Amino acid sequence: MGRNDKGNVGFIGIGTMGREMVRNLLMAGHAVRVFDLDEAALADSAREGAARAKSPADAAQGADIVITMLPDTPHVEATIYGEHGLLKSPPSGKLVVDMSTISPVAVRRIHADLQKIGVGFIDAPVSGGPVGAKNAALSIMAGGDADAFAQAEPFFRAMGTTITHVGASGAGQTVKLCNQLICGINIQAICEALALGRASGLDLNLLRRVLLGGSAASWMLDKLGPQMIAGDVSAGFRIDLQLKDLRLVQEHAQALSVPLPGTALVTSQYVDARAHGEGSNGNQALFRVYDRMTNQTTG
Ligand code: NAD
Repeated sequence: MGRNDKGNVGFIGIGTMGREMVRNLLMAGHAVRVFDLDEAALADSAREGAARAKSPADAAQGADIVITMLPDTPHVEATIYGEHGLLKSPPSGKLVVDMSTISPVAVRRIHADLQKIGVGFIDAPVSGGPVGAKNAALSIMAGGDADAFAQAEPFFRAMGTTITHVGASGAGQTVKLCNQLICGINIQAICEALALGRASGLDLNLLRRVLLGGSAASWMLDKLGPQMIAGDVSAGFRIDLQLKDLRLVQEHAQALSVPLPGTALVTSQYVDARAHGEGSNGNQALFRVYDRMTNQTTG
């Protein structure tokens, strides 16, 4: 890292989450070189002080660390193994960190392949959504070698508040999958309570406020409850990404022969939501499934 603990960061994937994380890295004094397939996203980040790169390899030029924040496993693999990827052109600081939510199996393969060329790899998925990303308040769950984690930690501190080394390579993703399973099913529980409250003629804002004061309180009820009640489906965390995460949960569970009946049920409801055109809406749009089942609407 450079003087005063400030470093050079290559950052790949500046969508909903990545652009906020880049802004916080810049505010912490790091120099950031960004790459994305989306021209408009690159232009936005450049206006905020990031340098534009033409490829993952270009983003890695002179970097202490390269961070990826991409939708799914194939996008991260393309960034690592592609023609202008990080396996051929690693950062000079010999550290790559993936903060997307992807397959733990793919993570361990990438870790092993980068290790062969002397480059560290940390899986560090996050929780906290776009608001957590904006406020540098993400929960970051990291898997990988202790020395690589120590090297990455100062950069994590610019983006998150709860930063935990949870185990070996892939462990970060496994913790994140547990997180996603709880989030997915928790939204379903809130949908059911709101559907029952609505059919009973309750004031749903009052219902939410009372529930937040007791043992039914949750991050989802606090942050997404108002949107559900108002019928606001704008994303946040898209139904498409929620389904991607539930697929990763089920693949992982099947490999270990762990039955997850709750996850299976709620997954079919998210599939229903996507089939009704909700894929790009926020995951609180699961409530529309309950609108259809009860023939009632909110908002
Ligand atoms: P997003 O779709 O908004 O952003 C992804 C960005 O990656 C886009 O700008 C896209 O153009 C870019 N991209 C795709 N393929 C690329 C490639 N090959 N090379 C370079 N750029 C490429 O997604 P997001 O909401 O920011 O989520 C990113 C990751 O973080 C996902 O794995 C998601 O599951 C996870 N996550 C999201 C949230 C959330 O609330 N949005 C919360 C926690 C974790």
